[in-house]
Amino acid sequence: MKTIGVLTSGGDSPGMNAAIRSAVRTGIDRGMHVFGIRHGYAGLLGEEFVAMTARDVSGIIERGGTILGSARCPEFATPDGLARALKILNNRRIDGLVVIGGNGSQTGAHALARLGFPVVGVASTIDNDLFGTDISIGVDTALNIAVEAIDRLKVTAESHRRAFLVEVMGRDCGYLALMSAIAGGAEVVVIPEVKVDPEDIIRELRSACERGKGHALVVVAEGAQYNATGLADYFRTHPHPSGFGLRETILGHVQRGGTPGAFDRLLATRLASKATELLADGKHGVLVGFIKGEIATTPLDVVIANKKSLDLDLLKLAHVLAK
Ligand code: ATP
Repeated sequence: MKTIGVLTSGGDSPGMNAAIRSAVRTGIDRGMHVFGIRHGYAGLLGEEFVAMTARDVSGIIERGGTILGSARCPEFATPDGLARALKILNNRRIDGLVVIGGNGSQTGAHALARLGFPVVGVASTIDNDLFGTDISIGVDTALNIAVEAIDRLKVTAESHRRAFLVEVMGRDCGYLALMSAIAGGAEVVVIPEVKVDPEDIIRELRSACERGKGHALVVVAEGAQYNATGLADYFRTHPHPSGFGLRETILGHVQRGGTPGAFDRLLATRLASKATELLADGKHGVLVGFIKGEIATTPLDVVIANKKSLDLDLLKLAHVLAK
């Protein structure tokens, strides 16, 4: 393998830059030419290729986001789009591709691999919904941002005897919500994996009030049956004798920005280096992830055929600790 491309795709996640830096420098170390492809699969189809040197990735390990840019590209998911992408890669004599991204991005990587193109995926999404890794790039930083926000909201909630509904990201996966609820000491957590009755939340808040709590936190996943806005609407239109004044806060994209923590920098560096080494050694068609504390590879067809499940015992733990 002589020339490889690297792209970031889907939602950005803190640590993507560390992954780009690692892929570029590992590739150069293995004697390969490395091209960065701007704006994910959209940039592939738009032929936004940039030759990368070791200096081009200087000073980025500490930066959130992605210097290559990311995008969502529905055209790539069509047979015509894929065929065009393959033609472009062949015309430009790209021998392999490192795809840094989440579920959708790895589905795209698998589609290219099925057409015979050498691809290796790197698990990167703050949602932590990707099969083939226990934790993906960006999760730890996003979690820390959510927990810091919860800590801050607790302070003001306590001053005013309020309950806050805090909405965190995660698409259809409750991982970020559940983990930030446990780490932030929330009273209630609402996740997509479990049906919710808003009346139960009111009952739990009232019970917290009766147990002598001066404030309460309800962490809500954006993809839950009721998100924070939905719950707030419900509470506005139904009497809610919870004992607390209610406020809602949506953390939104705040969770994606910011400086990647040491964990994400190291994870990104190790996963992307492994992905590049695999391509250099002629191995591909896999996702590089982190399983039981080790770097691990999983075939892309297995990755996309399986849904990652959430450990619901942790929901019981969150409930117990909310006493
Ligand atoms: P995140 O969940 O963190 O936002 P993601 O990688 O899951 O990241 P998506 O928006 O789901 O983000 O997907 C990114 C891109 O992957 C899509 O815009 C599209 O170009 C490509 N993609 C998604 N699904 C497919 C598919 N079935 N076939 C080919 N390409 C796909």
